[in-house]
Amino acid sequence: MPYTAELKKLIKIVEKTRPARVERKKRGEEFPPMSLKEREEILKYHPDFKEDGRSEIKLGPNKGYRIANEMVSLLHAPSRVDPDRVDLSSADYETDVLVIGGGGAGSAAALLARENGAKVIIATKLRMGDANTMMAEGGIQAATKSEKDSPYYHYLDAMGGGHFKNDPDLVETLVTEAPKIIAWLEKLGAMFSKFEDGRLRTMHGGGTSRKRMHYAGDITGAEIMRTVRDEVKNHSTDIKILEFSPAVELILNDKGVCAGALLYNLETEEYLVVKAKAVVLATGGSGRLHIQNFMTANHYGATGDGLIMGYHAGVPL
Ligand SMILES: Cc1cc2nc3c(=O)[nH]c(=O)nc-3n(C[C@H](O)[C@H](O)[C@H](O)COP(=O)(O)OP(=O)(O)OC[C@H]3O[C@@H](n4cnc5c(N)ncnc54)[C@H](O)[C@@H]3O)c2cc1C
Repeated sequence: MPYTAELKKLIKIVEKTRPARVERKKRGEEFPPMSLKEREEILKYHPDFKEDGRSEIKLGPNKGYRIANEMVSLLHAPSRVDPDRVDLSSADYETDVLVIGGGGAGSAAALLARENGAKVIIATKLRMGDANTMMAEGGIQAATKSEKDSPYYHYLDAMGGGHFKNDPDLVETLVTEAPKIIAWLEKLGAMFSKFEDGRLRTMHGGGTSRKRMHYAGDITGAEIMRTVRDEVKNHSTDIKILEFSPAVELILNDKGVCAGALLYNLETEEYLVVKAKAVVLATGGSGRLHIQNFMTANHYGATGDGLIMGYHAGVPL
């Protein structure tokens, strides 16, 4: 596809201003970052920031959030399940832990539950590993280099990157656990890029003050997914995988506590009842790719937010 007129105009600006940037670089000067005000001005043109592209969620745990209209319509839609067609008096499967979603988070949760003696079922929408995790390529951040970095700096970078709106407890868990997760993945066989002497290679990620992004060439997510998926499959006695079986409703017990899920088998078109002592939602974020005819900056979604599942979660069958 040829460049559009707008893009050609932007290319000219970049070309015109390049010598000044090169000169600065030669003098060892950093190019000044845009001020918050300048950034706000530019971001206004992004579909995610256009107020009429968003509306408020009226129901469920995410009530009050303003998100893309298309997502709101989806969340406001009635359940696809006809309660008369579902028999909750007997379960098709019973397990200790039901993990919904077979990406990186779901696989890790299943492995951890198994390590702690639980029998696990992973129910996933498509094949095991058909997930955003497989597509991530940039890298995975962890403060593993104690000579220059620490979870303290990682915490500051992550909080700053989130404009200090992040949940501090979650960020603390993230930054303190991250180095252990890198070691765990390596132990399971993940092959991160390394120097000849065996040290892990790291690079800068967006907004990081230290080089702490670990990578496996440009296939980091695929390498992580390969590793955890293999490990899950190594424990088929304890971890059962149900593929092409999205959860379409959560099931509550008589105390209103989540006690399983209703799965829809995409191949046989049957509904299956899974009863579990604990349920882990690891369905990833909502990609929103190409919603509103634009590839949004938030193409990653928010890891593990379970937004799609969230609405119907409170609706007993
Ligand atoms: C192109 C791309 C590049 C990225 N690069 C990076 C990067 O460099 N570094 C980084 O840190 N992050 C990156 N990310 C983000 C990162 O990949 C995700 O945040 C992370 O992989 C999410 O993991 P997850 O297990 O929570 O979700 P996912 O990997 O998305 O897994 C969720 C799983 O749940 C399944 N599922 C969904 N709904 C249901 C349901 N109702 N029932 C059953 N199963 C369901 C899905 O099919 C999927 O298998 C990138 C993402 C993309 C798309």
